[in-house]
Amino acid sequence: MSTFKDLGLNDDLLQAITDLGFEKPSEVQAKAIPILLESETDLVALAQTGTGKTAAFGFPMLEKIDVSSRTTQGLILSPTRELCLQITNEMKLYGKYCKGLNVVAVYGGSSITDQARDIKRGAQIIVATPGRMKDMINRRLVDISKIQYSVLDEADEMLNMGFKEDITDILSHTPEDKNTWLFSATMPREVATIAKKFMNNPQEITVGKKNESTSNVSHEYYLVNARDRYQALKRLSDANPDIFSVIFCRTKRDTQKVAENLIEDGYSAGALHGDLSQNQRDLVMKSFRNKQIQMLVATDVAARGIDVDDITHVINYQLPDEIETYTHRSGRTGRAGKTGVSMVIVSKSEVRKIKSIERIINQKFDKKDIPDGADICEVQLMSLANKIHNTEINHEIDKHLDSINELFADTDKDELIKKFFSVEFTRFFNYYNKSKNLNIAEGSFDSGRDGGRDFRGGKNDSTRYFINVGSKDGFDWMSLKDFLKEQLGLGRDDVFKVETKESFSFFNTENEAKEKVLAHFTDFKHEGRFVNVEVSENRGGGRRGGGRRDGGKRRDDRRGGGRRDDRKGASSGSRSDRRRSDGGGSKPRRSDSSEFGSSRPRRSRR
Ligand code: ADP
Ligand code: MG
Repeated sequence: MSTFKDLGLNDDLLQAITDLGFEKPSEVQAKAIPILLESETDLVALAQTGTGKTAAFGFPMLEKIDVSSRTTQGLILSPTRELCLQITNEMKLYGKYCKGLNVVAVYGGSSITDQARDIKRGAQIIVATPGRMKDMINRRLVDISKIQYSVLDEADEMLNMGFKEDITDILSHTPEDKNTWLFSATMPREVATIAKKFMNNPQEITVGKKNESTSNVSHEYYLVNARDRYQALKRLSDANPDIFSVIFCRTKRDTQKVAENLIEDGYSAGALHGDLSQNQRDLVMKSFRNKQIQMLVATDVAARGIDVDDITHVINYQLPDEIETYTHRSGRTGRAGKTGVSMVIVSKSEVRKIKSIERIINQKFDKKDIPDGADICEVQLMSLANKIHNTEINHEIDKHLDSINELFADTDKDELIKKFFSVEFTRFFNYYNKSKNLNIAEGSFDSGRDGGRDFRGGKNDSTRYFINVGSKDGFDWMSLKDFLKEQLGLGRDDVFKVETKESFSFFNTENEAKEKVLAHFTDFKHEGRFVNVEVSENRGGGRRGGGRRDGGKRRDDRRGGGRRDDRKGASSGSRSDRRRSDGGGSKPRRSDSSEFGSSRPRRSRR
């Protein structure tokens, strides 16, 4: 089958397809559309981002619904507001010649009464995010009891985002005999479970290998101490002067912090996460699309809607909690036939996850070293040389040439070049001269029960805590670990070395989580009693013990100076780096704004 007409679509749709300029069906469309048109069946379709899944379910749904009726017949669930709006727009474009068609988007953060009114007017198709949809059902603002077709788009992502219960709830309000079409980039166990539970003998189609990520993306990882993460990020960026990248962090807070630090350090960066207003997010995305922002720091959720081509690098500043999410991240680069690189900065405690990811993406990672200062200086110098070489001459300069020549009358060409380059280069050189090696060797740690952290051996990247609950409160190490993970919203392996005693226990997290842990358990009550967590002096946690178990006072200390210190440490480089850099700042900042504005856009456009 080679044309949309062959797939059996009607003339109204074919006309819209011509208008859209789609020449031939993509693979997932060629496979899904005939199945969905010809039979009343459930379907599981696995295909990467950017393969045209919207049209694969959109065309059949438009073909099958009755536009002369005002009953809601199709429901499309998608994980985020951005995707919801995107799908709604696409559906409207696909159905532009279907007279009487009404597609309504239902999502949070916008008036629920307006949305309800639009539905009342007769929406044959609703495109919704699960949270808002459930809300509408509970308030009886919508009737989905006559749905014939339901789509779970980006099913893996919806489950990652914790929408499982909402989805279950929503589907329980739809007829048993409807058809469900599930679309997903990956097939983690949770998706398989959903498919089993809600679907009836679904047909299955797969485009590319199951769970395989785009093959024009290469994958690299860099092993550093957790406390050097930020330094490593800066080096990776400096070693790639033309980088245009998305940097993924795990939490909104880290996202904001990394972006702020980058901006402060003179990079053109921006943050994208759910705590920003829609307006702020739109602005950031606009600057990113226009390449005014070279480094977009984002959470997984906020990045879902990003459909920017030309992204050269995806940087995993932290790995995602659910390793399946990695595929979505790396899929942001290597689009539209281009190649891309997905980089992961890992600490020792996470390096095992690389193996699991390799299994999922069916591709090997290259272990690479964070470039050292000399490498970076060379790259920057050559990049500058190339830019100068390719620069178009501005003839406004001609009239000043005589005076300039006079000034350089005694300077030979080599000397002139050296001086010229030094203007820009010295900044990098001073910053990186004698900078330390950030790489750590792999395999130099024991692999204890909890995954390779030696907490006696002077390792400093985890913090050990004391908590005043123990076995007499009904905890064993496993249940306490589960409790802590759930309370803190941490991933599977982020709480470790859990040891329960009778009336108290110990556990570790990475230093990075320390603030979060302490903040969470400030004035915290569990089953009616205060639960107190303190940094423990007992083994391991690191340099700053300090935690006697004397409650309140100590906690005030933490809120004050201690926290500030932590922030500096995490953000603007080691003390020695700072001392070495020019002008006392922490970064190779431009000394002034003019000379080579175009050669270092991220430092001039601040
Ligand atoms: P997915 O949901 O798989 O990530 P989308 O449905 O968002 O992918 O489609 C990605 C892009 O490809 C969209 O801009 C869409 O308009 C375009 N597209 C979809 N199908 C075709 C086609 N057959 N020919 C050309 N472009 C297409
Ligand atoms: Mg999609």
